[in-house]
Amino acid sequence: MNSLELLSEFETFLQKKKDTGKKIIAFLGHDNIPIELLEAADFFPLRMIFAGDDQLMNSSNTYLPPSTCSFAQSCIGYFTLTPRTHKFLEYVDYFLLSNHCVSDICVSEIISDVADLKRLDFYVPYYRNENASKYYKIELTNLKNEIEKLTRERIPDYKIRDSIIKQNDFKKVVKDISNLKIKGYEKLKLYQKAMLFGPNVQPELERIVEKHRDHNEINLKEYKNLLLTGCSIFIDDFLIDLIDESGGNIVHFDTWIGHQYYSQIFSQETLEKIQDPYKLLIKRFETNVYGDHCISHSLENQINSIINYINQFKKENPNMEDVAVLNHIIKFCDHFSLFQSTFKQKLQEKGVKVLNLERDYSRAMRGQLRTRIEAFMEMI
Ligand code: SF4
Repeated sequence: MNSLELLSEFETFLQKKKDTGKKIIAFLGHDNIPIELLEAADFFPLRMIFAGDDQLMNSSNTYLPPSTCSFAQSCIGYFTLTPRTHKFLEYVDYFLLSNHCVSDICVSEIISDVADLKRLDFYVPYYRNENASKYYKIELTNLKNEIEKLTRERIPDYKIRDSIIKQNDFKKVVKDISNLKIKGYEKLKLYQKAMLFGPNVQPELERIVEKHRDHNEINLKEYKNLLLTGCSIFIDDFLIDLIDESGGNIVHFDTWIGHQYYSQIFSQETLEKIQDPYKLLIKRFETNVYGDHCISHSLENQINSIINYINQFKKENPNMEDVAVLNHIIKFCDHFSLFQSTFKQKLQEKGVKVLNLERDYSRAMRGQLRTRIEAFMEMI
């Protein structure tokens, strides 16, 4: 399924949700958002995981300096350009602001203002300690109270817990996708679909997993195998085509669309031991130390996780070239732009080949990106 088909299917899907009275709440597609709380309030959580282009980026210039990350700029374009690039964004009722990064805050404020959407705020601590957990709990309670004020309905704890279990089961299926022996290109399309539709597509994804589970459909020796880290590759981004056309294959998506999503799974034991849904959400926040919402030692955690993956790959594929790292940096990204040199240096010290690929969403960049990717493939 290509991106156009995916987006058109999503349009129909969201229209149906809207027709049944569902409220749609959009947010920048990052980490630590308690979507189970939103679901329990009968909202549909819509992650903004759409790549940008020149027009979308430029349309943000009235509101933000061009030194804002290209993804955030494009998100503004999605709500200000007419006609809308994605018609389904007209169905959005609320916008959730979070402090994943400075761009997230600015862009969420602007979108809710220009698109006249009620804004809900959810702040996430930058630390992991006792006080941070207490603060996260306060934010969960505040968000719940805000939503209840809006809907005039209480959100029962059992509904939040049901949603946690449902999302947890769904993440297990997404994790199964990561283990399939198919091309990275295909995996990305499945991850993107999963993150857009959520558990609504679980039966479809389970069928796909079943179909491919015992088949090895890719000869890794034919490709330059890569680990993608940094910023996610969003829907309709040509980057994945460039990697594919240059002979590259992503064996591991160490990004929010990918490992950081499906790694946050509760064990059955934890689900049985902790009945309070808020305590479960807090536990997930406490253990989420690999995301880019910078916490103490986040760079070290990320590097260790990458090295662990590379070592595991070596063990399983002893006669193959090492996996190289492609660090995808959306231009002016608060998180990945800042750390890119240190990140590369630290991995190179461990003998890992790294390409820091910084880019915006302009079409003019396509040729330059292709050249850099091809040169990297030659080198590895
Ligand atoms: S600055 Fe980085 S983390 Fe923030 S919205 Fe942009 S891409 Fe996402």
